[in-house]
Amino acid sequence: MDVYINGKLKPIEKACVSVLDRGFLFGDGVYEVIPVYAGHPFRLESHMARLERSLAETRIPNPLSDEEWRGVFDSLIAQCPDCDAGLYLQVTRGVAKRDHAFPENVRPTVFAMINPIKPVPEHVLEQGISAVIRDDVRWQRCDIKSVSLLGNVLMRQEAVEYDAMETILVRDGLVTEGSASNVFIVKSGEILTPPKDHHLLGGITRELVLELAQDHGLAVREAAIREQFLRAADEVWVTSSTKEVLPVTRIDDRAVGEGVPGPVWQTMRELYGRCKENLRQGIDPC
Ligand code: PMP
Repeated sequence: MDVYINGKLKPIEKACVSVLDRGFLFGDGVYEVIPVYAGHPFRLESHMARLERSLAETRIPNPLSDEEWRGVFDSLIAQCPDCDAGLYLQVTRGVAKRDHAFPENVRPTVFAMINPIKPVPEHVLEQGISAVIRDDVRWQRCDIKSVSLLGNVLMRQEAVEYDAMETILVRDGLVTEGSASNVFIVKSGEILTPPKDHHLLGGITRELVLELAQDHGLAVREAAIREQFLRAADEVWVTSSTKEVLPVTRIDDRAVGEGVPGPVWQTMRELYGRCKENLRQGIDPC
């Protein structure tokens, strides 16, 4: 499938950027991942609002208008019109002689691609996933969706090496998020997730889960979660646009709750599934 690079669709082997691109040299750029179900982007406005915010916080001008972005997405989706897919887009500050300070008069580099999403296998959802807990060693602006992901990469690798699927991060004794996800717990029937601040990304899936819980009368609250409270939770979930809502049933080799996906997760899975199904049919999703 072709990818989009600076105004053109090209085969991936032909899509090139300069070695002086600041994304390559400094990780000086931001990105988004937008899920697409049967060709329909999900929560597009929220993703575009977050992109706008990431760009504003990093002081990179948005190189495309909303309509131009939509044109880029449509041209990528047209290659896979009925797919469930992830749209990836990245904007870097551009190409310039290497110097940390912002260069003048450069055009941001825009790259986008579409990749089919493999659904999480049913047996994984039936068993739940395992996670490990590690200190959150990242910077203080994890609310920006930056391509500088070295901290997340190192944290995620910890999970891989312990045969787990996600690393849950703890800063000063409080849960922040996963290496590539947000974290929810259920305790005594109440759903809890850490409030948004500079230490975690405002996930679009996190927002949707909060909305769905509220709209369906589930007990839900944003609150700081201590590591010990996480370990004592009845249910733990991690959420992201590509993995949706995954139940965590083992943390550091100890069972979470009963060691199987819990009833509140089952309810959330159904609510989330209904949104997706509606979107596929082209009706108002949630
Ligand atoms: N936190 C981090 C660090 C992430 O990488 C992601 C996934 N991009 C999320 C949270 C979840 O965000 P979203 O629901 O928007 O995919």
